[in-house]
Amino acid sequence: MNELSSWDLALADWTDVLGSEHVITDRDRLDSAQTTTYATHQVIPAILRPSCREQVQECLRIANKYRVGVYPVSSGKNWGYGSRVPVDEVSALLDLSRMNHILDFREDLAYVTVEPGVTQSQLSAFLREQKSNLWMDASGGSPESSLIGNTMERGFGHTPYGDHFAHSCGLEVILPTGERIETGFSRFPDTKTGPLYRWGVGPVLDGLFSQSNLGVVTRMSIWLMPAPEYFQGFFFSCNLDSMLSPAVDALRPLRLNGTIQSGMHIGNDYKVLNGLQQYPWAETEGRTPLSPEIMKGFRRALRIGAWNGSGALYGTRAQVAEARRLIKRALTGKVDRLQFFDDARLRLAKRFAKPYQFLTGWNITQTLTVLQAVYDLMKGIPTEKTLGSTYWRKRTPIPDQMNPDRDGCGLLWFAPIVPALGKDVQALTGIVIKTMLEDGFEPMISLTLLTERAIACVISISFDRSVPGEDDRAMRCYRRLLTNVTALGYRSYRLGIHSMGQMDIHDTYSSLLQTIKSAVDPVGILSAGRYQASKS
Ligand SMILES: Cc1cc2nc3c(=O)[nH]c(=O)nc-3n(C[C@H](O)[C@H](O)[C@H](O)COP(=O)(O)OP(=O)(O)OC[C@H]3O[C@@H](n4cnc5c(N)ncnc54)[C@H](O)[C@@H]3O)c2cc1C
Repeated sequence: MNELSSWDLALADWTDVLGSEHVITDRDRLDSAQTTTYATHQVIPAILRPSCREQVQECLRIANKYRVGVYPVSSGKNWGYGSRVPVDEVSALLDLSRMNHILDFREDLAYVTVEPGVTQSQLSAFLREQKSNLWMDASGGSPESSLIGNTMERGFGHTPYGDHFAHSCGLEVILPTGERIETGFSRFPDTKTGPLYRWGVGPVLDGLFSQSNLGVVTRMSIWLMPAPEYFQGFFFSCNLDSMLSPAVDALRPLRLNGTIQSGMHIGNDYKVLNGLQQYPWAETEGRTPLSPEIMKGFRRALRIGAWNGSGALYGTRAQVAEARRLIKRALTGKVDRLQFFDDARLRLAKRFAKPYQFLTGWNITQTLTVLQAVYDLMKGIPTEKTLGSTYWRKRTPIPDQMNPDRDGCGLLWFAPIVPALGKDVQALTGIVIKTMLEDGFEPMISLTLLTERAIACVISISFDRSVPGEDDRAMRCYRRLLTNVTALGYRSYRLGIHSMGQMDIHDTYSSLLQTIKSAVDPVGILSAGRYQASKS
């Protein structure tokens, strides 16, 4: 049987199970699913849209029968890491977005159980409808991105529950053979603690299903955070590059001792400008990259620092006041500006934005819009605002309905983890800035104190895919960054489909993973190549 007839037979069987309207073979829709924010060559022969777990099981059984590849996505908005494009050359896309039910919710135990298609905005609206006193965590990605897809990628947000995988529990997983398992205590039929206690008893399997190709997650519980009595955001800036390292060393003890409970965020000037506007084509007379000298002018005009931090304090008024005191003490002399905002102060700032501009000439309305989005994220409220940043190098305005894949926005993320030490942050940012400017791209850097001990650095290579040669130049820059940063001993926490080659390490760890993969997916139908070394 040749490959083409296998696909034809599989398509006929999938159509029997899903109905023809949920097996998409229309060329335009396939082309758009094959498109991401950088050049790819993978082919998607069909999009399968199951509505329930049983249909997922059937889809996988059919894939086994005809030995064809399948690649699951929850909402497929994995922008900058490959969007919906599979890693393997040819795979059907298993689009789980129709499975979008909130299956369980407990206010008293503070959790929610969701299917893969449930999005950030859906959960946010649901909590509002329930008049819940619980907060979700939101990533800076699209409000229409999924909770399960992001968690399976070990993505993160900005509240104390920002490490998504660490706040998930009780997975239901369909193995590549179509069998179903549940993790933790959920495996026991009459359990009352499946969504509450993630370890269950015995070996913990949850980790096998994140950043892997060992199963399709069809249900997950997410822990929610009780809304604090009082919330304050804080923002600081450092005018000099050299101030970053001491600021990180001042913040680490506060993250370690719990004064700062969430993954606070530090972005450089390029990152902030990228959040505020598109590339300044007029000021640069069309030249790229934006030079540090011109950048300095923007810093002055927009009152931003070389480095700019944002974080939040959660607790009672007294707890927040004490945390504020400790932060002020730690950052005095180490930052140039430090401001605290609560809801009332933010409202006031917005009210006086126009008279303030009249008096000072500084248009703070735009700054406040971005500040509001960051402030909301620190409260777990998803925002669409960040998505405009993907249009950075486009010469056309940002459309109302943003879609970076469709609009030729070029974006490659590189996300190394570094120790939460000033000297490591300095070493990393130094090499990143040098490499990116040499390669003609603006070094947009954000640093998140994701855990008490480690910082997630997210670097974006932003470009315009419609400019001939830019895809190649951006990928070259990515590869140089990878080489230079790996040489310093820092590795990415997450990979795009363009960078799974980093998993091609032939050690005992990889061979154990290969053994597990062969056991659960003997035909090799599920997400081939994803976070996996090639067979030696
Ligand atoms: C401007 C901007 C800001 C962003 N900010 C953030 C941020 O703050 N934090 C962050 O983490 N990311 C961020 N992102 C990256 C990305 O957009 C998000 O991580 C987004 O949540 C991922 O898309 P998704 O949820 O649709 O996942 P999907 O694309 O559905 O899934 C991602 C991958 O996980 C696997 N997968 C998905 N579902 C399943 C399943 N059910 N079972 C097994 N495997 C599965 C698949 O291999 C898939 O390719 C940002 C992106 C942009 C453009």
